Amino acid sequence: MKLLSEREGLARLKKLKENFRKIIRESYEYRAKNCLTCEHQGICCLDDHFVNVHITELEANLILKEVEKLSSEKIETLKKRNLQTVAKYNLSEGNSNQTFACPFLEKGKGCLIHEVKPLACIQHACYERKEHLPPDSLQEEYERKIERLNRQVYGKPAKWLPLPVWIKILTEIGCEKSKITKT
Ligand code: SF4
Ligand code: SF4
Repeated sequence: MKLLSEREGLARLKKLKENFRKIIRESYEYRAKNCLTCEHQGICCLDDHFVNVHITELEANLILKEVEKLSSEKIETLKKRNLQTVAKYNLSEGNSNQTFACPFLEKGKGCLIHEVKPLACIQHACYERKEHLPPDSLQEEYERKIERLNRQVYGKPAKWLPLPVWIKILTEIGCEKSKITKT
C-alpha cells in the first residue's frame, strides 16, 4: 500500500468528505426536513441519549485544523468543553458505546466544524419515510475509504473512537509537543 504524508492524507480526506456530502445532498437530503428552519435546531447534536459519533485519527486531525481557524479564545473554550464532555460521560477507548452531548454544537451558530464534520453527521437528517434515508452501505463504503487513508498515513489500522476522545488525545499530544519545542 502506498504511504502518504499526513498533509496529503488530510487533503484527500477533505475531498472524500466533500464527495460524500455531495451524494447525500443531491440524492437524499432534499427529501429530509430542512435543518435551517427546524424549530429544534441542534437538539439532535445535544441529545446525550442519541449522539455517539465515532471518528478516526486522521479525521480528528482534520477537525483540529478546522478548529485552529477560530479565535484563540474560542479554541480554549472548545478544548475545555471537550474535556468536560469526556469527563461528564466518562468517555474512553474502553467505553466507546457511551452517548454524549456534542461539544462542537454552539447554540445560535450550529456545528463549529461543519465543513469537516464526521460522516455520521453529514448523513444525519430527519426523514419522514424510512425508505428515503441514505442506505447504511453508503456510509460504510466511505468509512472503508477513511480507514484506508488512515493506514496510508499512519501505517496501522484505523481506530474508531468517540469524537471527544480523539480530540482529547490529539490535544494532549499537541500540548506535549509544544512543551518540548519550548524547552
Ligand atoms: S437533523 Fe432534524 S432535529 Fe436536527 S436540526 Fe435537522 S431537522 Fe432539526
Ligand atoms: S460534530 Fe457537529 S454535526 Fe456532529 S454532532 Fe457535533 S455539533 Fe452535531
